[in-house]
Amino acid sequence: MRKLFIKDIDVRKKSVMVRTDYNVPLDEEGNITDDTRIRATLPTINYLLDEEAKVIIVSHLGRPDGKVNPKYSLKPVARRLQRLLGEKVKVALAEDCIGPKVKKQIEEMHYGDVLVLENLRFHPGEEKNDPSFAKELAGLCDVFIQDAFGNCHRKHASMIGVDSFVPSAAGFLLKKEIDYFEKAVNNPMRPVVALLGGAKVSDKIKIIENLAKKMDKILIGGAMAFTFLKAQGIGVGKSLVEDSMLDVVKNLMDISRKNGIKLYLPVDFVVAENFDERAETKVVPFQEIPEKWIALDIGPASTKLFTEALQDAKTIVWNGPMGAFEFDAFSRGTYAMVDAVTSSHASTIVGGGDTDMAFHKSGKSHEVSFISTGGGAFLKLLEGGELPGVASLSDRRKSVRTASPSPV
Ligand code: AMP
Repeated sequence: MRKLFIKDIDVRKKSVMVRTDYNVPLDEEGNITDDTRIRATLPTINYLLDEEAKVIIVSHLGRPDGKVNPKYSLKPVARRLQRLLGEKVKVALAEDCIGPKVKKQIEEMHYGDVLVLENLRFHPGEEKNDPSFAKELAGLCDVFIQDAFGNCHRKHASMIGVDSFVPSAAGFLLKKEIDYFEKAVNNPMRPVVALLGGAKVSDKIKIIENLAKKMDKILIGGAMAFTFLKAQGIGVGKSLVEDSMLDVVKNLMDISRKNGIKLYLPVDFVVAENFDERAETKVVPFQEIPEKWIALDIGPASTKLFTEALQDAKTIVWNGPMGAFEFDAFSRGTYAMVDAVTSSHASTIVGGGDTDMAFHKSGKSHEVSFISTGGGAFLKLLEGGELPGVASLSDRRKSVRTASPSPV
């Protein structure tokens, strides 16, 4: 990673603000249903605790739209963090994320304590990237660490503003995400294979175009496949198609052919009379999707074809489910790909909300090399785009900065 890393700057006995992405799922009673994103930041927090820093955590949660809303309080997050760090570490929650009260609370912290500031999005300045809000946050710390990979595609005050006022660097999670991605997509062990699924070609077209320059094979499943089939004149019944993308897809297939990239499409499908789990289903070859039926998963022959295409891969990049996997009747293709990927010897990077959900549900998350914690940020990288939250951090080649004297 070309950006300054937490180990490059002096954090010992400093007040260190860590931007995390603790936008965790909550159930109706406000209990955290998946704490992966909190656990993923523990290396950064533990490093800072070892350095006897005051650890000031900032994050957003949900969409409170710039207003205080107890539903989106970081209270459950602070509680979970306390549990994960153990009783030896004091974790407290501040009532706000800026202001004199918070400042005083930070002054009174002991080195080695953790303070979680309340939801950044309770202030409109966060999402508006208001420089005065960023400056207020920066005024609470000596050093700023960016570890919110999942939010790095957003130009919010805590993502691109705070680091213009105080020395900044990437945390362990951010570095791991970027390094893994670089290794898998931009400098992969070959053959490198992309497995892409999901609903809409229009959402993923930039990704396919970018990966067509870098991959050896691209396997396309999910509803996206139907636009590719229709572009070749094949009937797809009532399956999801984007007619506006037909020319784009044709062009992409031509380019892939010219560049020698092998594009794989499913050869059979699970079709249903309508989009209903209880509807009658059957497996048909790709040329035989009945006119009034809808294809909702890849079939067994496609699973075999894709599994074989992954066999010699040294690197696999996966985003998007192979079918409407939320319903058991249409989930087999996706889970078969989970099996194919976890049983391969390739280095595998998986990302995008639905795809990591499939791994979690299958209980096989620990069998894959790396599951990205970012949805939108991961997709942006797959598109070949730059992440503002990373770009705004200081470059490594510039002289390593040391933290300024503590303002609090
Ligand atoms: P995306 O967010 O673009 O990755 O799309 C994920 C969604 O695509 C999931 O909710 C799936 O149910 C849906 N999906 C995948 N394959 C199909 C299909 N054949 N027909 C309808 N929806 C699908």
